[in-house]
Amino acid sequence: MKLTFHGAAGTVTGSRTLIESSGKKILIDAGLFQGPKELRMRNWTTSFKASTLDGVILTHAHIDHSGFLPRLVKEGFKKPIWCSRPSAALCRFMLLDSAKLQEEDAEYANRSGYSHHRPAEPLYTEKDVERTLKLFEVVDDEEWFSLSKTLQFRFFRAGHILGSRFVQLSYPTEAGQGSILFSGDLGNGRSKLIKPPQSPPQSDILVLESTYGDRLLPRDSSLTEFSDIINTTTRRGGVVVIPAFAVGRAQEILQAIAQMQRESLIDKIPVYLDSPMALEATKAHLKYTDEIAFHPEDKWMNHPIDTDMFRALNGYEESITLTQTNQPHIVISASGMVTGGRVMHHLKARLPDPKNAVVFVGYQAVGTKGRLLQSGEKDFRIHHEKVSVNASIHTIQQFSAHADWQDSIDWVKQMPVPPKKFILNHGEEGALEALRLKILETFPGTEVIVPEHLSQISI
Ligand SMILES: [Zn+2]
Repeated sequence: MKLTFHGAAGTVTGSRTLIESSGKKILIDAGLFQGPKELRMRNWTTSFKASTLDGVILTHAHIDHSGFLPRLVKEGFKKPIWCSRPSAALCRFMLLDSAKLQEEDAEYANRSGYSHHRPAEPLYTEKDVERTLKLFEVVDDEEWFSLSKTLQFRFFRAGHILGSRFVQLSYPTEAGQGSILFSGDLGNGRSKLIKPPQSPPQSDILVLESTYGDRLLPRDSSLTEFSDIINTTTRRGGVVVIPAFAVGRAQEILQAIAQMQRESLIDKIPVYLDSPMALEATKAHLKYTDEIAFHPEDKWMNHPIDTDMFRALNGYEESITLTQTNQPHIVISASGMVTGGRVMHHLKARLPDPKNAVVFVGYQAVGTKGRLLQSGEKDFRIHHEKVSVNASIHTIQQFSAHADWQDSIDWVKQMPVPPKKFILNHGEEGALEALRLKILETFPGTEVIVPEHLSQISI
């Protein structure tokens, strides 16, 4: 078996790992590179021939794992995309949204003339997405799915977002069948929305994500810090802006706010969900309840769209109107890393006033506007306009959808025998190195590899 790391090597986006075994070429995830320009440029040069692939195994719907699929199709890929049922449902609107963003980017480039290509082309269009969606094939959990006589895979719940799975592959070796496990993005088991990851089956090799390889997230699930920020802000007449990933995090936050209201930790103030995609994702959470772990009394789950306290905004006009009101409220909006979307105009309206607060509840990648705000940057621009930052900026760590180093180690320890070989991906440099050392310390005698972009490993 040969593995080639076409993405998420030394970085957290662009997950694409090519497996070549028993005459088959299978890609695990086909994610978009996001963040700094030099990474995003990689979306334009596919480092393998799309038409030669025999299929894609998709771990979950996040765009950094699925957002390259329509480009593959545009480049001639016509084979199946295997995933869980909720992932197929989430990808439908997430990929269409991604195509819309690509088309808007190209249009903007043509209007402003900044593109090298004339005319600028989108990476893919909604038509490419429609063709992509026809290739999705749902695979049930825990059952072996045969790719050839000797190459098989099976899915297990990963507890990261709705529909997320980790994947075990069984492949031929000279000494019988070998096994390799791809963690995909791994949850930490503390989510109040999604059930925890399943135990990993015994495997020879583990490809492990390392997003929080250098961090220990808070174990305390109390909502005191969150409710303090909300109360301080709204009682001084301010607005709380929460940038949140539309899929998973937005619902997790709705769940937390519902709990704070139920336990009277916060005042009764209106909560707005301002992201068409987050609304779609919320509906999906209500439909695929098998892996949901929510409190039955939390009304947003029963009536997520329109109750006295929770309201989902529909049109763009409603969203703009909300930015002009002075009534204290909480607004949850995307994108989670402030890279675009409706959260931009909420921030533009609220950042200059010290009464307001911004609460980050998710990972902010290097090079994103979210990371800049989080690290105290005062020279801040939105839509090419300078915006002064006077609102208070907070980060709450407990909502991470990823395992930290301790969670990852504890998860691996559930295998009767640790893997012989670890391959670390999906992390930034410091996180990868920290996790490498932790693994060597915990499982002496194992081998830990940190592959570089486009490097190959033969097994
Ligand atoms: Zn993810």
